[in-house]
Amino acid sequence: MIGVDIGTTSTKSVLYDMKGKVIAYANTGYQLYQDIPDMAEEDPEDIFDAVIEVLGQVIRKGKVQSSEIKGISFSSAMHSLILMDQNDQPLTRAITWADNRAAKYSDELKNNGIGAQIYAKTGTPIHPMAPLSKIIWLRNEKPELFKQTKKFIDIKTYVFFRLFGVYKMEYSIASATGMFNIFELKWDQQALELLHISEDQLPDLVEPTDTIKGINLKYGDLLNISPETPFVFGASDGTLSNLGVNAIDPGVVAVTIGTSGAVRVVVDKPVVDPDGKLFCYALTKDKWVVGGPVNNGGIVFRWVKDQLFAPERITAEQMQVSTYDILTQIAEKIPAGSDGLLFHPYLGGERAPIWNAYARGSFFGLTRKHTRAHMVRAALEGIVYNLYVVMLTIEKLTGKPKSIQATGGFARSSLWRQMLADIFEQDVTIPESFESSCLGAAVLGMYALGYVDDLSVVKDMIGVTDIHHPNTDNFEVYRELLPIWIRVSERLEPEYKEIAEFQKKHSN
Ligand code: ADP
Repeated sequence: MIGVDIGTTSTKSVLYDMKGKVIAYANTGYQLYQDIPDMAEEDPEDIFDAVIEVLGQVIRKGKVQSSEIKGISFSSAMHSLILMDQNDQPLTRAITWADNRAAKYSDELKNNGIGAQIYAKTGTPIHPMAPLSKIIWLRNEKPELFKQTKKFIDIKTYVFFRLFGVYKMEYSIASATGMFNIFELKWDQQALELLHISEDQLPDLVEPTDTIKGINLKYGDLLNISPETPFVFGASDGTLSNLGVNAIDPGVVAVTIGTSGAVRVVVDKPVVDPDGKLFCYALTKDKWVVGGPVNNGGIVFRWVKDQLFAPERITAEQMQVSTYDILTQIAEKIPAGSDGLLFHPYLGGERAPIWNAYARGSFFGLTRKHTRAHMVRAALEGIVYNLYVVMLTIEKLTGKPKSIQATGGFARSSLWRQMLADIFEQDVTIPESFESSCLGAAVLGMYALGYVDDLSVVKDMIGVTDIHHPNTDNFEVYRELLPIWIRVSERLEPEYKEIAEFQKKHSN
């Protein structure tokens, strides 16, 4: 079974045996176009070529015959948008989730109350990331492109179109467009009316477990894939990552701290947050992933490393050791709670939990006693407090968590892993999972094609590298500090816009 994950800066592919053992791996990167502020686009052609390249590589490296490939199943990044013309040619590049040019229109939707009505049916937070806002932006600011558009699709639909000549989008990617009614499993009429588009301008909807055969012979011959080989539509990278780290049982929470971060939990029915602050995306028709995406994950630790510890960084690089390891050793000497120094990590605005693009970072509680070491520890703690606040919002919808499966670059630090256990007051397991979205795609593929009865087989396919239990002394300190952290965060909120506008006005 081959799992393919179409990401924002690269596409990965893993060939597995039916027990989930990795046989071959390939990864090909491409450019993210950021020609003007707020733009973040990819060339669909580059991505299609990357998909063909990684498929070719794993088939060659794995030395498999076409008859041995039982299926190929797909994961992809959410929220991308490509406009296709009457001749089925792209009118735009793929506008990714990271593109912010629709911000003005998502703000309008939030302010006029229509956004809340649509969110309550679609489960996609109102934000420039989502195609809903992007299409309004295109209609207003690129009307000539909007008028020529035959289909509004995403990158995975594009790849399947090139391979099979049909426009089909599965529920998982559809549920992240902001236009898909998650309760009725169809395109939402109110959203379509708002956008001035008709249903036939959107792809046909299929289930994540639906399959298609008959690959275009040109690519079938090139890759040595038979027209009989089934392709599984699959799901989105976030939802498949929950599957790939075995966080699919009720109460098992997936926490990721990579460059950004996320908290996600699987439920068996779609649910929405009364305040519109959580997403609810389909993994399959019967499994839904509720959660919040966070901008400020490890990227904040990177800032600490680069801006507060530049000399240490240079020494560490000369000694060929990780500056992050040195910094976590420094932070480890400071007690839990950083002697009352609090840090709000909003260096890059924030999505969940506050959904405020103007949010900015701050240290609170500084005294002359505090050192740079306190600042590192406070930064690491602040990132986790912020994720914990997301968890508190999720908990209201899905109940108390039972345990945490955590992944991402942060897991290289035992101090940071323990902090997660202490602040969340939960057992934290670090699964030994390689390319979790590819594995998730492959397991979904095995399930879709009847090779396994249940998605839970994934638990036998991944190992465990570390387990952390909450330390009572530490979590008591965190319990005292958290309410202060949350209150300060709420009090700062009204001030963010003004300082952000000052920064914009005076930036050069
Ligand atoms: P991405 O999300 O881009 O795939 P990763 O999951 O590798 O990236 O996470 C990168 C982040 O992991 C870095 O920004 C840094 O904060 C953190 N990180 C990397 N190495 C370490 C380490 N040794 N100790 C603690 N954190 C680390």
